Amino acid sequence: MWGSPNPSMGARAGLVCLSSSLPTTTTGDDRIHVFWHDGMLNHDPGTGVFDSGIDPGFLDVLENHPENSDRVKNMLSILKKGPLSPFISWHTGRPALIPELLTFHTSGYIDELVEADRNGGKMICAGTFLNSGSWDAALLAAGTTLSAMKHILDGHGKISYSLVRPPGHHAQPTQADGYCFLNNAGLAVQLALDSGCKSVVVVDIDVHYGNGTAEGFYHSDKVLTISLHMNHGSWGPSHPHSGNVDELGDGDGFGYNLNIPLPNGTGDRGYEFAMTELVVPAVQKFQPDMMVLVIGQDSSAFDPNGRQCLTMKGYREIGRKIRTLADKLCDGRLLIVQEGGYQVTYSAYCLHATLEGALNLPLPLLSDPIAYYPEDEAFSIEFRTKGKFKEEELQALQEEVETSEQLHVMMETIAQGEVKEKKKNMLYNLTVELDIPGIQKISLNAILDTGATTCVVDSESVPTEALEANTYTVEFNGSFTKHILNEHNFISCISESLHRDMRLCN
Ligand SMILES: [Zn+2]
Repeated sequence: MWGSPNPSMGARAGLVCLSSSLPTTTTGDDRIHVFWHDGMLNHDPGTGVFDSGIDPGFLDVLENHPENSDRVKNMLSILKKGPLSPFISWHTGRPALIPELLTFHTSGYIDELVEADRNGGKMICAGTFLNSGSWDAALLAAGTTLSAMKHILDGHGKISYSLVRPPGHHAQPTQADGYCFLNNAGLAVQLALDSGCKSVVVVDIDVHYGNGTAEGFYHSDKVLTISLHMNHGSWGPSHPHSGNVDELGDGDGFGYNLNIPLPNGTGDRGYEFAMTELVVPAVQKFQPDMMVLVIGQDSSAFDPNGRQCLTMKGYREIGRKIRTLADKLCDGRLLIVQEGGYQVTYSAYCLHATLEGALNLPLPLLSDPIAYYPEDEAFSIEFRTKGKFKEEELQALQEEVETSEQLHVMMETIAQGEVKEKKKNMLYNLTVELDIPGIQKISLNAILDTGATTCVVDSESVPTEALEANTYTVEFNGSFTKHILNEHNFISCISESLHRDMRLCN
């Protein structure tokens, strides 16, 4: 718990069901079809120091591996007994068949897993234990997700949620990674493509980079993979991907992988910003006919595996935004796939909130029992300054931007010269006035940390779309340090991502 309790939370309102004023049933498409199978509880990754499997010998109390069955038991029970239960139809999952797995994974890799299972299991890679019972659970997770997708493809419902474990989004075609063996979401995406979908978007909000899914479709322009994640980088041989903005896809897939690494403490407002400014425009441009939302509650404020500080409110908004996109672009077709989320009680609440959002319910059904995050308004930033232009001015501006080395230099010079006010010990409030000859002055405000002395405003970051929309957006691109745990730090990262995102659109 950070700081003192929020007085507005009163008497732990989160324990109170708020559903009495809302309809208790729904009709038509306003249901979520949840796919589940009890056999997935049989995967037991063991105990140790967190996820290491190590007993150092000097601790009296070891803990269950974070990806234990309790977390999913609570997700199951909150959906069965919580206020969302009237909105849910339940379906029993099934194991995947080996030929189905080969639509995403190589046969050599699947043979390795089968062999490991036959020999009683082993640690496949760091933190990832295939023990007795694990393989059957993994097959159930994959098959259950395929069933959830098929349910949509067959027109039996618009929204399916695949409540599965072990998780899958780190599993690459040839490699287990990060508690994942089979890429459940990736298999479902491939099924959608094989069933006639022309394009599928995957939005992954688990706190870790959905590297396995990204790699599976890295060369494809039929799947836009978007991942919002903690800026954790590579974590070893099983996870060589950086998750940085420059992993954009290859070949036909170039521009179809959008990584949005977010610094620690990004929070509800930061995620909302990223969704609005990056995810929504990218998905709208892509025009998918199937939406896949990959969820992990390890991006919550209380997760032992993440530092991103989302609360139920943030998850609810993400669910709502995705639902809006699905309605607008995909005829409402939305598959939601469970990944991480390791805080045993709060993960269930955040799942509930995400699904409330996906159902587009007008009011929260369940309030947040523990969220308190001291967001400091002083850190909030309006870093985009929009100026209105006449058409000829826009044309002149565009030419100027396209051709002017001088503009670049000028911007850089001004940016370095106008540090006006120091704030909060480590922040500078920087005001930049861009005096573009023959057009007009544009003011740009940003708050930079002390590492920003070499800040460069990159003229490349003026996107055509912004010009066409009669707005001019300047983004910083450069040497921001990323160590401060609050929202202003988010800006450096997001501006970098925006820069890349606009390149995608070119
Ligand atoms: Zn995760």
